[in-house]
Amino acid sequence: MKPWGCIVGLPLVMLALVLVLFGILFIIAATDSAATDPGSRLGVGACLIVVALVFLGVAGATMYGGYRSAQAEKKTEIVQRVELAGDMSTEQLKCKACGAVLGKDSIEVKAGAAVISCPYCGTTYHLEEQPKW
Ligand SMILES: [Zn+2]
Repeated sequence: MKPWGCIVGLPLVMLALVLVLFGILFIIAATDSAATDPGSRLGVGACLIVVALVFLGVAGATMYGGYRSAQAEKKTEIVQRVELAGDMSTEQLKCKACGAVLGKDSIEVKAGAAVISCPYCGTTYHLEEQPKW
């Protein structure tokens, strides 16, 4: 699955920002005492900002959805890797703080990332590199 959130969401956010900018300009123009028709300018400005907020909402929802699916994919990948580790020797995985040999139970998946919790020294850190077990 492609991260649709980034493809659809970012142009929408930019469009919304442009609309907000124009909306603010219209409202500023409406407050100008020399304005010939401040009421309609205020209306246009308010409409632009409302439309921009709708765009932002849609973009936010799309991006959040994309983020969620990306996180889910990542998580699945790590779980598969951890499961793979279970079939192989886990003796190569050592705590980077104290050097103690860690078992499969020391690996936790939190927020889509593999986290190592050393039971010997209490160190907790993210598994950033490709594990060499
Ligand atoms: Zn340790």
